[in-house]
Amino acid sequence: MRPMTALDTRAVHAGRADLAGLGVHVPPIDLSTTNPLPDVELGGACYEALATGGLPVADGTHVYQRLWNPTTGRFEQALAELEQCEQAVAFASGMAAISACIIAAAAEGRRHVVAVRPLYGGTDHLLATGLLGSEVSWAAPDEVAAAIRPDTGLVVVETPGNPTLELLDLARLARQCGGPDGVPLLVDNTFATPILQQPARFGATLVVHSATKYLGGHGDVLAGVVATNEEWAARLRRVRAVTGGILHPLAAYLLHRGLQTLPLRIRHQSDSAQKLADWLTTHPAVERVYYPGLAECDPLHLIGRQMSGPGAILAVSVRGGLEAAARVAGACELITHAVSLGGVDTLIQHPASLTHRPVAGDAKPHASVLRLSIGLEDVDDLRVDLARALDAAAR
Ligand SMILES: *Cc1c(COP(=O)(O)O)cnc(C)c1O
Repeated sequence: MRPMTALDTRAVHAGRADLAGLGVHVPPIDLSTTNPLPDVELGGACYEALATGGLPVADGTHVYQRLWNPTTGRFEQALAELEQCEQAVAFASGMAAISACIIAAAAEGRRHVVAVRPLYGGTDHLLATGLLGSEVSWAAPDEVAAAIRPDTGLVVVETPGNPTLELLDLARLARQCGGPDGVPLLVDNTFATPILQQPARFGATLVVHSATKYLGGHGDVLAGVVATNEEWAARLRRVRAVTGGILHPLAAYLLHRGLQTLPLRIRHQSDSAQKLADWLTTHPAVERVYYPGLAECDPLHLIGRQMSGPGAILAVSVRGGLEAAARVAGACELITHAVSLGGVDTLIQHPASLTHRPVAGDAKPHASVLRLSIGLEDVDDLRVDLARALDAAAR
């Protein structure tokens, strides 16, 4: 890691240390699927290093794109610096990243996972079905230590949680995991981003992102990434090399560019989200607002201590249940009715029908809940659109 500069500076410059030496100002996109081999011996040594999870051999060859790609490597370097982790490993999607963590833990003979709900619907579904051969125990935040067994390979949490933004105390969870030599704590940091929260500072071993969301930030890249220590990064690269989930270099280029504006986007979008959340608490058609920037949604006082701000996702429970929620989503005009989040434009969606559809009944979000990802539009235009949709639905 380079000497620690301020986060905004790192966002702009990280992962670009080799560019001046190449005589370029922006990262080149290397699309080679295969690379010339200098000779059989060095080619073999490079292959061996990369296929077993190592980093490229200096002055060697990258052999084959499924093993390594320099454009993807620069994005990984940048993300690792922002998360204050030793390394990062990028995947073709957030779910590919989470799958690789489960597979890597199982490869160490630890197939049991302790997980705290709520989680992203896809993660919940993957763990609940045991599709990858894992076995899950769902635990309340304070019951994680009691749920850990000798074969527990991961503790999986998300904070803020999806979709209702519950906050978890990461330092407390890391202590329950047994500290640095205990069970690895995996934190899905998609909602917070490294701008608002760096879970490794509080004891997380694996920091996962659906980079599809804020890191890309423009709704045009599907990607995932895990920031972690050197040992886990090697395990994940090994899994990635054989399961084939590496991130494509064009996507990596866009993500690396997206990181440069991440701090600005997050701050502006969070400011707008706070204004909208405050206003929504006073709206007669709204039963409840879920937003970590509202005092009642942060009972452990984690904003300012663990997170530097509440972020730009909020959820509302509307009066009138499923039908009213469906009418609000359908009546938005400026705001797009679509899944996903973290882009420059504002999205609204109904978690119980969509993102959290596969979640078991008792853990599924209530049918009256809508989730909003606040974008970069003028906040008053957003307020007008929402007010009209809420009024139309109440009528
Ligand atoms: C979208 C999302 C995922 C899954 O990521 P993909 O890139 O869609 O595979 C995982 N966790 C959270 C919190 C998400 O929002």
